[in-house]
Order: sequence, then C-alpha cells, then structure tokens
Amino acid sequence: MFINGEWVGSSSGETFNDYSPIDESIYAVVQKGTREDAKRAIDAAYEAKDGWADTLGRRRADYLYKLYDVLLAKRDEIVDVIVKESGSTLRKANVEVLFTLNMIRSAAEEARRVSGETIPSDTGKFSLTIRQPAGVVACITPWNFPFQIPMRKILHAIALGNTVVLKPSSETPVIALKIAGLFEAVKIPRGVVNVVTGSGSEVGEELVTNRKVSRITFTGESSTGRHVAQKAGMYLKRSILELGGSDPLIILNDADVEYSAKAAVYGAFYHQGESCVSVKRIIVERELYDKFVKRFVELAKSLKVGDPTKPETEIGPMINKEQLLKVDEQVRDAVAKGAKVECGGTYKGLYYNPTVLTNVSLDMKVMREEVFGPARPVISVDSEDEAIRVANSSDYGLSAGVITNDISKALTIARKLECGMVHINDTGLYDEAHAPFGGVKDSGMGREGGKYSTEELTDIKWITIQLRPREFRF
Ligand code: NAD
Repeated sequence: MFINGEWVGSSSGETFNDYSPIDESIYAVVQKGTREDAKRAIDAAYEAKDGWADTLGRRRADYLYKLYDVLLAKRDEIVDVIVKESGSTLRKANVEVLFTLNMIRSAAEEARRVSGETIPSDTGKFSLTIRQPAGVVACITPWNFPFQIPMRKILHAIALGNTVVLKPSSETPVIALKIAGLFEAVKIPRGVVNVVTGSGSEVGEELVTNRKVSRITFTGESSTGRHVAQKAGMYLKRSILELGGSDPLIILNDADVEYSAKAAVYGAFYHQGESCVSVKRIIVERELYDKFVKRFVELAKSLKVGDPTKPETEIGPMINKEQLLKVDEQVRDAVAKGAKVECGGTYKGLYYNPTVLTNVSLDMKVMREEVFGPARPVISVDSEDEAIRVANSSDYGLSAGVITNDISKALTIARKLECGMVHINDTGLYDEAHAPFGGVKDSGMGREGGKYSTEELTDIKWITIQLRPREFRF
C-alpha cells in the first residue's frame, strides 16, 4: 500500500488473493489493509492538506503535466494490468488510458480556474466569494473502469488542492497501486495521494466515518452507495455518488436500421456490458422493430468472445462468477416469464455469450434491475410517449440515447427522460473529461468532470469588507 509517500504492508500482516478473470488464476497477492491502515492514510492526508492547499494552482498543475508524460511512457504496462486484472479487452484498456491522458490535462486546467464571484452588497460592503479545497477526499472505486474512475477522482481532487485516500475495489487493487506508482514517479509531496487496499467493510467504513475526511467521492453499486450516503449523512459529510444504471436506448421509426443496430451493439456489449452507462434496455418503435432486431442479433452473434489479451477479441470474461451467475439468473427470470432468447444465454467459464432477449415485459428483472453483463432486452413501443414511459419506468436514471432524424422529437424526449445525461443520435455510453457526468434517482447524486468536480470538491466562502467605518447600534 502507499501511505505518506512510502510503500507499506498491512498492520495485520494479512493478505488477500487477487484473481485474473481470464483464467481465474491468482494474479497477485495483495496487502489486506485494516481500519488502522486507513486511519494512518487519513492522518497522512490530513497532515499534508494545508501545505498542498497553499501550493500555487499552477505548481499543482505542473505535477499533473509531468504525470501526463510518465503515463504516456508507461502506457503499455498500465494497459497490461488493466487487461489481466479486470478482463478488459485490449481496445477498452487502451481507451481507458487515452481517456485518462485527456483527463489529466482537463484537471490541470481546473487548477487555474477555481474562482469566486463579487456580489452586489445591500449595505455597500465589498462582498465576494472564494472557493477553497474541501480537505481530505476519500475516493472509493469499483472494478469495471479500474484506472479511469480512480484517476478522475484523484486528478480533480488534487488539482483543486485537496489530498486523497484511494480505496480501490478488491477485484482490481494492483492497478490502484500502479496509480500510486505514477504519483510517486512525479514526486508528489508525501501524503497528497495515498492508496489503501482492503475491504469495503473495514477500510471503506473508516474512510466514510472518519472526521478528518471532508468529502467522499464514491462509484459503485446503488445499494452500497445508499449505505455510504447514510453513514456519511450521520457525520454531515457531503458524498458524491456515481451509482448503477439501466440506461435506455430509444430508437424511433425514422432511424436508420444499420446505424441504430451498430450503435446498440457497441453500447450494449462494450466491455461485456459491464459499464454503468452501457445500453441496458433497447426501446424501438413498432415499425422498425423487426428489422432492427434482425440486424442487432446478426451483429451480436458476430462478436468475437475470448481471451482479452488478443487484439481481435471484442468480448472478454466477466469479472467473477458471482456477477456472471447474477446476469444468468436475470436471463433465466426473463425466459421463465416468456422472453425469447434470440442469441446467447450460454457461457463457458467467465465468458458469457452476447445475449439478446425479445418478447420482454416490464415485470422482468432485465427491465427492472441493472444487468451488469452482456445480456440485453429489446422492447417495442407504439409512440414516443410510450418510449418515454418505458424508459422512465426504471428506478435508475444515469444516461440515455435517442436515435431519430427528428430533432424536435429528440429534444422533447431528452427533456422528459428522468436521467442525468442524454446523447442524441448516439448511445448513453459516452463521456468527456470536462462534462458533467452523473445521474439522478438510484443512479446517484453530484457530478464529476471539469468545473462540475470543482463545485463538488471545494467549499465556498463568503467574505465581505466594510469599506467605510459603520455604526454599530444596540
Ligand atoms: P460495489 O458497490 O460492490 O463496490 C464499490 C466500492 O465500494 C468498492 O471499492 C468496495 O470495496 C466499496 N465498499 C463496499 N462496501 C463498502 C462500505 N460498507 N463502505 C465503504 N465502501 C464500501 O460496486 P462494484 O461491483 O465494484 O462496481 C459495479 C457497480 O458500479 C455497478 O453498479 C456500476 O453501474 C457502478 N458504476 C457506476 C459508475 C457511474 O459513474 N455511475 C461507473 C462505474 C460503475
């Protein structure tokens, strides 16, 4: 683990096994951090916070620009760990690194942009606001984008003058330690970035409840996020929550079938469907439905499933058996309630074949729950209004896509969808470093990216100056 600028072992001396989903073999033996270790990391971050907050924004940005060069040089090493530890395909792992490179620049730019306002005063004072770093930020992250997600949190937090403690998923601890190595390589001051590997119930709980931590930025399942928010609420701490999704892709009658089918296959099956903003429900207007399903199924069947270290592989393994069996159970539930399996519905080891379900209804788990794997329902609707109703019937509200040539219909739908992001003539699987990424309903609260991260990770302070002596009357 990386605490206060040093590589340390767990205070308990315990370790845990980290398995590669490629063949379920042990990939690494990792330190099992304890509450004590989490406290040590928080103390280190707390000690470092004032010095780092006083460091000029442009100097903080300089560390990030150096980090850009270090990451570029180590790109292949990082990609290799992402592939082997999380089962990501080579293409997806490369995209994670490229996206992060872009994010480094974007976060560095924010270091110079943190600004306040002047406010007209009712009594003639000079009245202004400044934004200051929140302090120690706890970053708690999942396994599906094990590099990009922790980096997004850390980069913005430190660019703004905060210090951080990262607790990665126990499925992907090695990539988090590689992240620590990148910051060590640019000689980030001691305590500014700390990484503690270990369980959510120990390390995670300490981060959420420790009084020295000012913010929690969490990405993970909605149920875990709810628990984290409850605990954080007890301590009146703000938590930024990026949670699960069941993103709809709405395709209207006038859409191009080939374009829509290609978009749907990409959005549904990229990274084995293990993205929070994967297309998880496909809603097609009746006239186009049959043609769309035919082409969508053809394309889904053509995807190459296999070893993610091979460049031609398009679908790699799922992260673990538990996740795979959960997806399989959701597919079985749909079939038991009358769904037709157009392709897939089978698996070998951790490799689940791309699965398309038709004849689906709103009571099925595949329409109600988050399906975090490569199985997708396609449902037909008779109107835009029905498409909106079906889309909004989910408890989730993360991202969405709408495909149509009618821009007024697209914008009307975009306004009425209950979610945080809508991409017209694309799928919900889209992100940019400086845009507001995040959801509503069970998909979370708060936004990440560019100035939106600045709003979340800084505190606003109101300052006034009395220009002429005033009379103080009792
Ligand atoms: P998870 O909720 O199981 O774990 C997320 C993190 O929380 C892990 O580091 C885990 O150790 C930690 N944790 C567990 N219990 C905790 C506790 N009591 N206190 C503090 N921390 C605790 O999620 P996962 O399975 O790793 O990730 C998949 C989920 O993440 C999916 O639901 C997916 O949609 C979601 N996700 C959301 C976004 C987004 O931006 N909205 C992005 C990626 C993934």
